Amino acid sequence: MPDPYTPKLSSFKYTATERRAINWALKQKKPWMVDKLKKRDLTSQEQTYVKAIVGFKIRVKTFHAKRQNNRCCYCGQSLFNRTIEQDREHIIPKAKKKSLIFAVFNLAVACKTCNMSIKKSQISHLRGFRRSGLRDPKVILNSKNYNIPHPNIHDWEEHMDYSSSSKGRATVTHYQPKTTRGRFAYYFFKLDDQEEFANTEEQRKIRGAQPLHPRLVELRDTYKQ
Ligand SMILES: [Zn+2]
Repeated sequence: MPDPYTPKLSSFKYTATERRAINWALKQKKPWMVDKLKKRDLTSQEQTYVKAIVGFKIRVKTFHAKRQNNRCCYCGQSLFNRTIEQDREHIIPKAKKKSLIFAVFNLAVACKTCNMSIKKSQISHLRGFRRSGLRDPKVILNSKNYNIPHPNIHDWEEHMDYSSSSKGRATVTHYQPKTTRGRFAYYFFKLDDQEEFANTEEQRKIRGAQPLHPRLVELRDTYKQ
């Protein structure tokens, strides 16, 4: 599997404690959200696992942010400049493949706009994942099975040109998809909407009281995030 970014995926090592904690978490109803469980309902061993999961989530986010040069894996915008926080992104949704929830290959960092633009169970960005596909590791690791540039397999810039220019006091972002995958991502993540969107601290100041794009407010309300 090609890996265009550094540090390499293969350099990420799970500690023995993390492995045990992940095995335990995967048996829970919501493995990724075990840190939301009530402490009083957990044994001291389970509390140790939760601590390890919290640590893992921070560590893996830092790892991916570095690989992505602190840019959203889907829209390429700086994760420092967004109006709202960044999210750990599961490329194959959590609900679709439990065993990949803590897999570094299936994780990335996305801005909240892109993250929320994808309906949680949506898999139209995946190819060949229906039925047997999700059970076969070869299908999961095959770059051809992703309709979008996969944050850990494809080099985003080979699929998308991205530039910013000034329009009055605001910065306008332009996306120019270069490939079929780039075009798919452009429409899938509604990057055309983001082109006119205030992305920087400076623009937020100009916009004053209305920091969120109206579509984002709508999505936030829909998904209660
Ligand atoms: Zn984004």
